[in-house]
Amino acid sequence: MSKALQEILGRNWSLFSKINRLSRRQARYAIAVITGHFGTGSMLLKMGIIDDPTCMACNEDVESTEHLLCECDGLARKRLDLLGVAYPQPEDYFQNKIFNQTLRVDF
Ligand SMILES: [Zn+2]
Repeated sequence: MSKALQEILGRNWSLFSKINRLSRRQARYAIAVITGHFGTGSMLLKMGIIDDPTCMACNEDVESTEHLLCECDGLARKRLDLLGVAYPQPEDYFQNKIFNQTLRVDF
């Protein structure tokens, strides 16, 4: 884990400790989400890779990490099945129950 990332996560020791115990693959996804470098439509638009960042799951909003994890109507049922809540708040992902459930999802 890079020093810069350790400094960012170091402010939240609980989160740092959890990520440090993950497999390399799980940690990669967790860090991508935390740092906003998950391959969402909004990020791919910024990189000039795509022209339309509209969410493919709902076709209603810009696809961002927060939209996918918390707001997307097209993924609400899946979040409910996997996490036990259809529309979690961003801070809910830092709670043990949802954090642990999220890591069981096979990306
Ligand atoms: Zn959506």
